[in-house]
Amino acid sequence: MAFLFDSFEHWKIYCLKTDKTLDEVVVEYETEQKGRSEGEIIDGLGKAWKVMKEAVHSGLEEEMTSRSGMINNGAKKVYRYPTPVLSKEFQNLISRALAAKEVNSCMGRVVAAPTAGASGIMPGVLYTLQEIHQISDKRILEAMMVAAGIAIIIEQKASISGAVGGCQAETGTAAAMGAGAIVFCLDGTIDQVFNAVAITIQCMLGLVCDPVAGLVEIPCVVRNASAAAIANSSAQIALADVNSVIPVDEVIEAMGEIGASMETRYKETALGGLAATPTAQKIAKRVLIRDIDVLPDQES
Ligand code: SF4
Repeated sequence: MAFLFDSFEHWKIYCLKTDKTLDEVVVEYETEQKGRSEGEIIDGLGKAWKVMKEAVHSGLEEEMTSRSGMINNGAKKVYRYPTPVLSKEFQNLISRALAAKEVNSCMGRVVAAPTAGASGIMPGVLYTLQEIHQISDKRILEAMMVAAGIAIIIEQKASISGAVGGCQAETGTAAAMGAGAIVFCLDGTIDQVFNAVAITIQCMLGLVCDPVAGLVEIPCVVRNASAAAIANSSAQIALADVNSVIPVDEVIEAMGEIGASMETRYKETALGGLAATPTAQKIAKRVLIRDIDVLPDQES
């Protein structure tokens, strides 16, 4: 029977026992549990990777203004800004994560990895990684399998939903997927991949879900950029064998515990945090009034 992704520790043990790589174990799980052939899985991943890259391009090249007006072509501005804070590569990373997420906020096509709210992180991370290190598409798809395995475990041990565990569960999980994928692509060991996940989640713990006007725009879009940055910093730390000290499974359990005790107003209800600020309240009212105004037209 395929490994059931109940913990990172067991995933590692299973890899060592069966002499399989991290991605091979996920493929085995998908074929046995979902009844899909390996070819279908690879084909699906290839399509997802294509959509991710298209989202990056669309966000950087096409008009990106959301109905609320809160999102207004921010990715392009960042991409074209003449002074990189660190390097052009870092600027590109941030722009691409923003770009793909803006496409989602403007109702375009994205890959929910693991959710639509966090859909800019993996595209930003993988696109930039491939460009800098000339990673093959085949390796990127394998890394996406590893990322999927990471998400499956987090979903079981904690949550990947902002409504259940706060933003740590959404953008935190996507960042952990990205960090693990980076380390995997750069030939890190299993321990280093899992360490990258642990370090990433340690950096994202406690992040609440407080979308302004209940729209997945503010702060969601900028959090995709910061999560992409954290994925990269964590991967850099993990590759150098700097240990997370708290084992990855315990870190994920801590995330679950924090998510469970988080107040409801911080779980996608738009009742607390940024969503409760006076400015956000005004925006929410404006968005609501406009939606009511358009209702009669829609019904006629
Ligand atoms: S703030 Fe909430 S809606 Fe926005 S990305 Fe985070 S979890 Fe998703």
